Amino acid sequence: RPVLVLNKVERHYVQGERKLTILNGADFTINRGEMVALVAPSGAGKSTLLHTAGLLEKPDAGEVTLNGRVCGNLPDDERTSIRRNEIGFVYQFHHLLPEFSALENIMLPQLVQGLAKKEAANRARQLLDYMHIGKRAGHRPAELSGGEQQRVAIARAVANAPRLLLADEPTGNLDPQTAGYVFDALAALVKQSGLAALIATHNHELAARMDRKVTLDQGHIVPA
Ligand code: ADP
Ligand code: ADP
Repeated sequence: RPVLVLNKVERHYVQGERKLTILNGADFTINRGEMVALVAPSGAGKSTLLHTAGLLEKPDAGEVTLNGRVCGNLPDDERTSIRRNEIGFVYQFHHLLPEFSALENIMLPQLVQGLAKKEAANRARQLLDYMHIGKRAGHRPAELSGGEQQRVAIARAVANAPRLLLADEPTGNLDPQTAGYVFDALAALVKQSGLAALIATHNHELAARMDRKVTLDQGHIVPA
């Protein structure tokens, strides 16, 4: 079943006199439990695609449909609310809050959504265990290794049980072995929870382990 559908999506930037076209009638579908690698050179438009799919930016034309609802063009407040409930983001750098423990960082998005503290803590503990870092629950980000920090960031991204996970170089800051371990944990989570995941990466080894690879070509999303 499709989680995310892009239908004839366009994204253009105006740079001085020039119009730069990043997406030009792009069509794309990603289903439940599917992990798709987004591989393209720097400047090709990966961030633009992730931001458009993630409802952070509106398409200039076309439709972005999430879980059957056309929502790319809804007003900002509605897109924000959908984003908080249905989309998780992971970046190259963890962006965890330094003053809070791993557990608290994972609890926060749930508390924002109105969950009781106890429930949020239970879910956070489960996710930490699932990511094999249950013993790190009380540590602050600075007390964690790079791999552990990304594991916490991934757990936080899925804390509200989103349907779509968007990741921009989630292991780009890690050594190859650690990147592999963190990817294993991420892949297990995607399969177990039936998430749809679109993951931009320059790591060809990891890209090859996903269900399929896509790239950007002349404004279209095509198999890589
Ligand atoms: P990637 O993530 O693949 O490196 P981006 O989506 O960040 O690519 O950018 C694609 C192209 O669009 C780049 O050439 C970039 O300079 C341009 N671009 C991105 N954002 C803007 C913007 N807000 N205004 C003008 N040009 C932009
Ligand atoms: P670090 O940044 O310290 O390498 P990681 O989060 O990558 O932290 O994991 C710490 C250690 O746990 C790894 O070096 C590895 O020995 C072990 N480990 C983590 N995930 C796995 C896994 N999926 N399979 C086997 N061992 C793992």
